[in-house]
Amino acid sequence: MLTLSHYVNGKHTETSQRQQPIYEPASGELRGHVSLACKQEVSHAVEIAKQAYQTWSQVTPLNRARVLFKFKALMEQNIDELAELITREHGKVLEDAKGELVRGLEVVEFACGIPHLLKGEHTQQVGGGVDSWSVNQSLGVVAGIAPFNFPVMVPMWMFPIAIACGNTFIMKPSEKDPSSVMRMAELLTEAGLPDGVFNVVNGDKEAVDTLLTHPDVQAVSFVGSTPIAEYIYSTASAHGKRVQALGGAKNHMLLMPDADLDQAVKALMGAAYGSAGERCMAISVVLAVGNSGDKLVEALLPQIENLKVGNGLTPEMDMGPLISAQHLQKVRDYVATGVAEGATLIADGRNLSVKDQQQGYFLGACLFDNVTPEMTIYQQEIFGPVLAIVRVKDYAQALNLINKHEFGNGTAIFTQNGEAARHFCHHVEVGMVGVNVPIPVPMAFHSFGGWKRSLFGPLHMHGPDGVRFYTKRKAITARWPKASVTTEGSAFIMPTMN
Ligand code: NAD
Repeated sequence: MLTLSHYVNGKHTETSQRQQPIYEPASGELRGHVSLACKQEVSHAVEIAKQAYQTWSQVTPLNRARVLFKFKALMEQNIDELAELITREHGKVLEDAKGELVRGLEVVEFACGIPHLLKGEHTQQVGGGVDSWSVNQSLGVVAGIAPFNFPVMVPMWMFPIAIACGNTFIMKPSEKDPSSVMRMAELLTEAGLPDGVFNVVNGDKEAVDTLLTHPDVQAVSFVGSTPIAEYIYSTASAHGKRVQALGGAKNHMLLMPDADLDQAVKALMGAAYGSAGERCMAISVVLAVGNSGDKLVEALLPQIENLKVGNGLTPEMDMGPLISAQHLQKVRDYVATGVAEGATLIADGRNLSVKDQQQGYFLGACLFDNVTPEMTIYQQEIFGPVLAIVRVKDYAQALNLINKHEFGNGTAIFTQNGEAARHFCHHVEVGMVGVNVPIPVPMAFHSFGGWKRSLFGPLHMHGPDGVRFYTKRKAITARWPKASVTTEGSAFIMPTMN
């Protein structure tokens, strides 16, 4: 049985008094227990990180980057082991787990460029004999709180840039699948990261609340559901912290009648059902414009029929289980609500039975047609393998629906019409937009974030916004007059430069 505690000051700690079980979603079997940190344990980790900050913030950016280069190499050497940890605890198929690792490592690659990224700006002679420049300085101890659905990639959106900038870090992984973060903590130590720079506290609300209110935590990065993101944003902001809190999603694909249907259907299958729909960038609604709906249904159904659902460790699977028995029940309830509210369930995954995995948290792909904007399954995030088709008369109606939705994380248009695509990119009220690309996740050197109730706070994750989030800017104005020429008296008016 696995027992996970915390990782503080470069080592694993004693287990806490409170613990929570970890299950393997494919079998439903108990895998072990994870500690839930109390207030004192979290405060101890913050104190350790605060001490480590004194020296880490003074290490040169080049040497901080060199630790990350080694960490990247170690992650690559251990990629099979890490992917297996993800699949065992999350359930997603092994190749998808490797994809998540690669996307996370791209942020490490970006953070390795920190000597360049931290450079400030300099203007000579802003006034007679006066120069001005700005520098980007680290914040101190910063914290990250992650969701279950990308146990490695989401933490890696945060900590590589934070520590490259000279901060020290407290990571609070999801209590549902914490093993891969603990392994990354070991690999960071092996890469030469000084003790106390990266710490992991496992836990639940008690641990999170301690981080949100602790006076020595300067900034909080959060990714998870919208109600918790909003709570994190308001609580941590009220305690004087810088916050970026990414929330839930309901991502629409706008399917124009002129789209390449074959391409759109292939893209849609992966975007709706990959990782069992447990992705914040999953497509969960198709707005089928004009007559595109009938052709879409006809093309989708045989593909859904052929989906291979099973244990993510078994080669060739397309889709694994959901994260927990409770979440499986929640998604099944949404399917029942969709039927009760009058949508047409044309593929029903509820009766799926996976051989040798009877206790696993599996749900087959579900497809609803004739969904309307008033229905619960249209309005709320389901976070499962459930795709809704809404029939709309034209492009304008489709765009209006997307713009009215409470969430604005990702969206995509599938069309051959450049003018429609261009209009869509300009006018859609969503943070990440794809044109014939179903899951438009920005690369590590751009920034990731949604609009509306999908993001609380002004700065997105990683890329240039990541560097801005984890640094504070200081502007310096200086002159070095010779004592003999200092003839000016005191100035009582707003200083202006000549
Ligand atoms: P969640 O909100 O339940 O949990 C996220 C984190 O918050 C976990 O670490 C959890 O321990 C902590 N938490 C939960 N309840 C809390 C409370 N009451 N007080 C303080 N902390 C609490 O989310 P989840 O189920 O782990 O993840 C799925 C959600 O994350 C989905 O809504 C998905 O859309 C979202 N998500 C968003 C993005 C994005 O980029 N916008 C990316 C990935 C996931």
